[in-house]
Amino acid sequence: MVGGGIAGLSAAWELRDRDVLVLEAEERAGGRLMSEPRGRYWLNFGGHVLAGEDSATGRLLAATGVDAAPVPGVLTALAMNGRVLAGGRVETYPLRLQLTRHERLALLRAGARVRLAVLEYGRVSRRRAGESEADRRARVLAYRDDRTFADFLGEVPAEVDAIFRPTIQRSSGEPEQVSAGYGIGYFQLVWDRKGGLTRNVLGGSARLPGAIADALGGRVRTGARVERVVADGDGVTVALGGGEQIRARFAVVATAAYAAREILEGIPAETADALGRVAYGPYVVGALLTDEPGPMPYDGIYAVATPKTSFNMLFTHGLLGGGARRRAGRSRRRGDRADLRRRRRPHLSGGRGPRPRGADSPLAARAAASPARPPSAPAGARAAARERVPGRRLPGHDLRRDRRHDRNGCRTRDPPGRA
Ligand SMILES: Cc1cc2nc3c(=O)[nH]c(=O)nc-3n(C[C@H](O)[C@H](O)[C@H](O)COP(=O)(O)OP(=O)(O)OC[C@H]3O[C@@H](n4cnc5c(N)ncnc54)[C@H](O)[C@@H]3O)c2cc1C
Repeated sequence: MVGGGIAGLSAAWELRDRDVLVLEAEERAGGRLMSEPRGRYWLNFGGHVLAGEDSATGRLLAATGVDAAPVPGVLTALAMNGRVLAGGRVETYPLRLQLTRHERLALLRAGARVRLAVLEYGRVSRRRAGESEADRRARVLAYRDDRTFADFLGEVPAEVDAIFRPTIQRSSGEPEQVSAGYGIGYFQLVWDRKGGLTRNVLGGSARLPGAIADALGGRVRTGARVERVVADGDGVTVALGGGEQIRARFAVVATAAYAAREILEGIPAETADALGRVAYGPYVVGALLTDEPGPMPYDGIYAVATPKTSFNMLFTHGLLGGGARRRAGRSRRRGDRADLRRRRRPHLSGGRGPRPRGADSPLAARAAASPARPPSAPAGARAAARERVPGRRLPGHDLRRDRRHDRNGCRTRDPPGRA
């Protein structure tokens, strides 16, 4: 396995009864699943909302004995124009936001379009009788793949655009870059509390790759940068920095697309071209450990989209750590929502209100020099990238691809780039 992110590690886990070796360039396995423990809390710097029990990720968590729990709070909160909406159905948001009549109508129309498309996506992404998983996946990837999400929404007032944009940005790119089908699929993942991205790894996401790496022991080598993978008659030669070479029957290349393109020799031009067209961008993630001793207004909210701010989403993990925060969550569910809304508003809009007592370790606004999720390449490019090359496999880059409703590729007009 070339690459010790979750793709390479889970492939190694599947093949653990064979003679398998994971080669990871960095000193830490886990790639874009990264977290650090802080007492009974933890800080996540990469992927953190994972698919449910009935998914490849869910099965992997169960098999490796890593505990995960449903995200305890609201996943679809929205903070905009001084108001925080963190309850009730998203369909009611247009009526509760401060908007002009024109904007409200436009938001209702756009929301209804997305909602209907999400229902359609749910139907499209279901496996049909007799269909292979690969065929289902190809069909889902082709769904509304001929236009961007921005084209799908059509001309909308700036306020309406601002509401949809952060969710798409967080998932992988701008609405102008991702395909309509991808964007709709992502809204389905966020809105679907049963089958979507709804679980956290207790103790932090890095526990999953950590558990696999521990189980594989010496079969995971970190600090091992692969420079070339060359296939020949009956196997592959994997060349590492320093001149070391390893022979194997197969190599699974589980790096980002641009890295795979660099190290894979002799792949078809179409595959190389497809890999080169997957664009990556930098993604800045900050995680803060605060030390408030009691309930806070944002307890009970897991994810807030923050349109028109300098960041696009805010997540709170406090409820998962237990203690006072958990009690606060319970009281919120039982308690007076109106009061909590009142208290939440000034805090999130920068005014007065209860605040954390101290951002004890403003740990890291880590500029994720690693790429965020791969946005997209045109459908043909994705299909080509996924094709098997003799002796090599090119697995995906997104945990969601392990799921039934997964999607990964999406359209971009950006030139390929690296963080
Ligand atoms: C901020 C952020 C938030 C996210 N949130 C979510 C989320 O909530 N839910 C979700 O499902 N997904 C989320 N994702 C996406 C998810 O984290 C990734 O899709 C997933 O972790 C990618 O795993 P991977 O193994 O495919 O790639 P990576 O994690 O990138 O692993 C690739 C590995 O290959 C190694 N490598 C590269 N080149 C070489 C080489 N030449 N030789 C040896 N090794 C090499 C790299 O060092 C790396 O460790 C998020 C991503 C980010 C950045």
